[in-house]
Amino acid sequence: MAAHALLAPSAAHRWLACTPSAKLEAKFPDSKSEYADEGTFAHKWGELQLLNFFEPSAEHEQELATAKQSDKGKKYWSHGLEEYVDEYVSTVTNKFLEAQRRDSAATLLLEQELDMSQWVPGGFGHGDAVIVSDGLMEIIDLKYGQNVRVVAGNNPQLRLYALGAWQELSLVYDIDRVAMTIVQPRNGGVSSEELSIEELLGWGDAIKPIAAQAMRGDGAFVPGKHCTFCKAKERCKALADYELEIAKTQFEDVTLLSDKEISVMLNQADEIISYLNNLKKYAAREAIDNGKEWPGWKLVAGKSNRKLTDPAKAAEILLKAGYAESDIYKPREVLGFTEMEKLVGRKKLATLWNAVIIKPPGNPTLVPESDERPTWSNPKEDFDEVTDEEAIPF
Ligand code: SF4
Repeated sequence: MAAHALLAPSAAHRWLACTPSAKLEAKFPDSKSEYADEGTFAHKWGELQLLNFFEPSAEHEQELATAKQSDKGKKYWSHGLEEYVDEYVSTVTNKFLEAQRRDSAATLLLEQELDMSQWVPGGFGHGDAVIVSDGLMEIIDLKYGQNVRVVAGNNPQLRLYALGAWQELSLVYDIDRVAMTIVQPRNGGVSSEELSIEELLGWGDAIKPIAAQAMRGDGAFVPGKHCTFCKAKERCKALADYELEIAKTQFEDVTLLSDKEISVMLNQADEIISYLNNLKKYAAREAIDNGKEWPGWKLVAGKSNRKLTDPAKAAEILLKAGYAESDIYKPREVLGFTEMEKLVGRKKLATLWNAVIIKPPGNPTLVPESDERPTWSNPKEDFDEVTDEEAIPF
């Protein structure tokens, strides 16, 4: 079996929207990222925690200790990671204990290989945790990423996992409902979707022809938000056309932009800036790593700052020259929140620092009207609105 399915469940939101994308992506190498590596470690950590809880043994305990001391463990393990993964572990634990209360024959499967090839050619994946009991099958997926929020509602990856789990387990268990849950401790927490098996299978039937089309590489290229993690995005002509098209604005007046035109351009700004920045990064990476030459462009040495070869000796020289310690050393600084949470753990740090944490109001930011945050209230306007009667007398 190949290491990755061409139609990977994790990319289903993309190949369902843009059917030729999977075949096009296959032409590009896999890129390894620290984030992906950290995510893999977090999953391993979660699995070991669950095994230790449900099947305690010296062997599992040793595996946990070894994982923590491994090269990856030393790089990624922290109190912060343990605490985040605990949210996933306790979600699975609570759901399984609840399932056992309803049905003593409830079953928990961890890192279960799932085959969804009945709907998606060559489709397979791994379910982080699958629980089945008294007619209910639960799929629980840990998302360790923090930059992009992923929710369970209408999530094709989870639905494909559910189809694979149903295919495997329905031979042994009566299943009439499926609950799919994402635990994303660093962005948004827990979200769930529940479907009847008829609804899930109906969805599977609906995507079957689209998956077949994606497997053949047929259909139109459809750019959109799903392009963000497409391996072809820097080279994709359809995406370039789309970005350049949205940048074209027909101006009403040849000299001055109207308020409406500025608003329209603001709507497009983030998307175009991000697209062009990615393009620049890709071109630079290709030039540096692969010697690629881009017509009209060249590599030069970037700005460089002076560095001390021996900071201790440098300090000694200045002290001997009569400068005071307090003048030549920076004041000691407490670690920032992210680093300190890794060291201490999020909950413990919140308790310990309870009396010394404040959250000042953020600077105003211009965002689309659809943003869920409340509209910023200008303190200056609030002050201006105070009437003579309301004003505090001196
Ligand atoms: S970048 Fe977007 S439009 Fe192009 S192949 Fe990928 S998903 Fe499709």
